[in-house]
Amino acid sequence: MSATPSLTCYILDTGHCLAHEHHLIEGGARQEVACHSIVALIQHPEHGWLLWDAGYAPRMLDATARFPYRLYRWITPLRLRPELAAAAQLPRFGLTAADIGAVIVSHFHADHESGLLDFPTSRYVTLPEAYASIANLRGLAALRRGHLPALLPADFAARMTLLDRFTGPPLPELGPTCDYFGDGSLLLVRLPGHARGQMGMLANTTRGALFFVADSCWLARSVQTRRPPARITHFIADDPTQVQRTIDGLHAFAQARPDVLIVPSHCPETFRREVEPTPAA
Ligand SMILES: [Zn+2]
Ligand SMILES: [Zn+2]
Repeated sequence: MSATPSLTCYILDTGHCLAHEHHLIEGGARQEVACHSIVALIQHPEHGWLLWDAGYAPRMLDATARFPYRLYRWITPLRLRPELAAAAQLPRFGLTAADIGAVIVSHFHADHESGLLDFPTSRYVTLPEAYASIANLRGLAALRRGHLPALLPADFAARMTLLDRFTGPPLPELGPTCDYFGDGSLLLVRLPGHARGQMGMLANTTRGALFFVADSCWLARSVQTRRPPARITHFIADDPTQVQRTIDGLHAFAQARPDVLIVPSHCPETFRREVEPTPAA
């Protein structure tokens, strides 16, 4: 059996919003924290480049300029810079958007989908239930799901790949995976609760095994301590009971696989340790 290929992986900051730690985790400090939205730029040695999530992009400010979408900005005050958009950072890696074969969308919340329009030739990879949950929503109905319709490319459906073959090796406590390249290097797994059809991505990289868990938890220490986000955040969750089950599953996974680094999309602690230096302001 041949060895699993190692992927090159750069974790990039696309901007941040301000949040309160005691909302992000039960029993958290009453202090304001910067919640960066990270994306991962990944290169497979044979199959080329892909992006995990599209992150923030400045067009999110336009998309939230008017009601009802402006409510999004009230809840999460935005601190965005054009040079932090994922596509704007590609040149320093010698890349353009055309080099990105696929963008894997963990879930359809605005802080993960604002950059999608910057990738006009990429495939968009997601779960059928994730796309179905937002495809026809507008106005308040979309906002209630954290989705801003203006951020979705008009030809999204024509370029999307809906994952339905979860026949890869199961992850301890988390269930079956989709083996994206068929060589074990990138496994996608359902992480339900936070948003309908949310996915995680376990990547075998040259910097070790990284498990991108999207918004299953906002702080990595939620997984270590099995502490969920505060109750006040339940109103944005697809299924609050399932949020806790997924955190419990990740906790058990982390016990079984201590070699794997859990990477939530917005954890300030993980951000400080793992993210590439950002371009100067
Ligand atoms: Zn989210
Ligand atoms: Zn998020």
